[in-house]
Amino acid sequence: MEANFTMKFQPVIGLEVHVELATNSKMFCGCPVVDSVEAEPNIAVCPVCSGMPGALPVANERAVEYGIRVGLALGCTIQPTSIFARKNYFYPDMPKAYQISQFEDPLATDGTLIIKTEDGSEKTVRVLRAHLEEDAGKLTHIEGASLVDLNRAGVPLLEIVSMPDMHSAIEARSYAENLRDILRYLGVNSGDMEKGVIRFEANISVRPEGTEKLGTRTEVKNLNSFRAMEDAINYEIERQSKLIEAGGEVDQVTMGWDEAKAKTYTMRGKEDSHDYRYFPEPDLPPLKVDDAWRERVLSELPELPRAKFERFVADYELTEYDAGVLVAEKTTADYFESALKASSQKVTPKMVANWMTGDLFALMNQNDVSINALKLQPAGLAELVSLVAEGEINQKTAKEILAEVFESGASPKAIVAEKGLGQVSDGDLIGALVAEVVNEHQAEVTSYREGKEGIANWLFGQVMKKARGRANPQVLREELMRQLKG
Ligand SMILES: [Zn+2]
Repeated sequence: MEANFTMKFQPVIGLEVHVELATNSKMFCGCPVVDSVEAEPNIAVCPVCSGMPGALPVANERAVEYGIRVGLALGCTIQPTSIFARKNYFYPDMPKAYQISQFEDPLATDGTLIIKTEDGSEKTVRVLRAHLEEDAGKLTHIEGASLVDLNRAGVPLLEIVSMPDMHSAIEARSYAENLRDILRYLGVNSGDMEKGVIRFEANISVRPEGTEKLGTRTEVKNLNSFRAMEDAINYEIERQSKLIEAGGEVDQVTMGWDEAKAKTYTMRGKEDSHDYRYFPEPDLPPLKVDDAWRERVLSELPELPRAKFERFVADYELTEYDAGVLVAEKTTADYFESALKASSQKVTPKMVANWMTGDLFALMNQNDVSINALKLQPAGLAELVSLVAEGEINQKTAKEILAEVFESGASPKAIVAEKGLGQVSDGDLIGALVAEVVNEHQAEVTSYREGKEGIANWLFGQVMKKARGRANPQVLREELMRQLKG
């Protein structure tokens, strides 16, 4: 992909993100929101979402609340009054021939999102607006026909529009990933990209480095994965740069992304808002959000990923890597904190983090189990880590117990008691075992006393063998040294 240009170009990228809001019912009718992949076609359809004349829409309060939640989490101003409008265009997946959206007066305006740049530093991307709208249905093209499924028609969408503040595909990806994490924390979207619950559109232009004037942009639609978005942006940056350097001009067009060919293609020409003949939706009153509603939603916002990450690093002294892994999902972060809270005083946050990101995650991967479906509860992990920290069991035994309680969800303490797996720390008992070994290996003991100090490790191993691996290593070592000196 790397090409050598004599001119240097700076890419300028803005993202529009379409987010399905995880409500039970659709945006303007009572139809349930059904799984877009699993459900039979056209089982969740009524006169409103199938566009029958005379059917009247009613705005879904839960969807509005979710929109407010996202707006506030992005630091937006929530508009006291926003207006639904008709965006007119014809397409077979939308029988009304218009989409209800918000145009001049969106729900939320002027927010920000912090992202990581290529060199690892942070920067702020401005969020222009977030507005409510409805999804269209789905078309499946088969030999000689197209099949229409209206299950998705009318599903609530929030469209979040950034300013063109990003300058590489990596920055765009960071924006998209951070936004997805926030949406999941807020509980308004599953983040399940394979089901199309988040879709991207990228506006891309390039300009000679050091210049201010924006170049002509293209808009690439229907990017359904982070990978597709990143590839499409990189492709457009290179295509436009080559074109300009060769003396050509970029056309302002709407494009698609051909995943198989890994290239963009032109779908249609320049499209302006007047082409849609927007006008206020006559069947819906202006949407009002009063101070009390906004304040309540604000007071109920959860701690967001970035704040949690910073707290984990500062308060628990975790590495940025560990903190990043643990806060990626809210459930994982909650699990960690519950386990830490339930652990004994000798357990450090780092110990819990190590057990989770190491052995526990490995078992989850091997068995394809998510954190939500774990049989081992945080209290169970806390018991296990505490047993190690208190010297009751050693690491090796703990790993074996973990594999067992991962399967059964049983209490590690109970298993230790039941199977007699507890670590032996009794000085008299260990002393007796050491005495046996010293008696049985007089030659080696003599060598040790003559200066071959390395033999102590071998003798240590012999005692541990007698203790079937369960002797407290520290007590054993002290006792062995005492008797060897004797
Ligand atoms: Zn309906």
